[in-house]
Amino acid sequence: MILILFGPPAAGKGTQAARLKERHKVAHLSTGDMLRAAIAQGTEVGKRAKAIMDKGDLVPDEIVIGIIGDRIKDPDCKNGFILDGFPRTVNQAKALDELLKGRTLEVSVVIVIEVDEAALIKRVENRANEARAKGEPVRADDDPETFKKRLAVYKAETAPVLPYYDNQGKTKRVDGMKSIDEVTAQIEAVVKTAKPRKGWFG
Ligand code: AMP
Repeated sequence: MILILFGPPAAGKGTQAARLKERHKVAHLSTGDMLRAAIAQGTEVGKRAKAIMDKGDLVPDEIVIGIIGDRIKDPDCKNGFILDGFPRTVNQAKALDELLKGRTLEVSVVIVIEVDEAALIKRVENRANEARAKGEPVRADDDPETFKKRLAVYKAETAPVLPYYDNQGKTKRVDGMKSIDEVTAQIEAVVKTAKPRKGWFG
């Protein structure tokens, strides 16, 4: 399966992607994680991305499209993969379709994790407090002010990706305000009933 987990920052995409990976033995592709790894390694991409990410802005499309284009060629993507945090612009969504078409694949389903904004802000504040309590650094982009910026960027640039997939009949919505286990159950129900398409590896 080629499954997109879609939703605003801090909606729980990473947590759910990790569970899907475990259960379905597919790869988990998080552009945010890959960019953070690039920063940690001090690569050219990492150098370009750091200041942009710290501000809560989007890294240029060509960078993330390049990262994903390379990554989906890896052997662990053969059984399918979950995209977490990509695509984040309509341009990225179109580029993804083209990348997949070249391999006679297509997106199987787009799972939209719906959450309310006030709850998200609370969630991020808690995450920051927990990190501080453990003596761990708070991710610069999880600073509550930066987070509000990321939400605004989500609304302006990422939310328009939804109609793109609605038009393809690929979106399925789940209630992200439920417990983590309940959200997982809703996602599993979608995965079970999703119509097989090209790129659906069982
Ligand atoms: P995330 O961990 O998915 O919330 O991503 C953290 C940050 O990485 C985002 O706020 C962006 O600055 C950058 N980023 C991750 N994925 C993308 C993407 N698909 N397009 C542009 N920027 C991205």
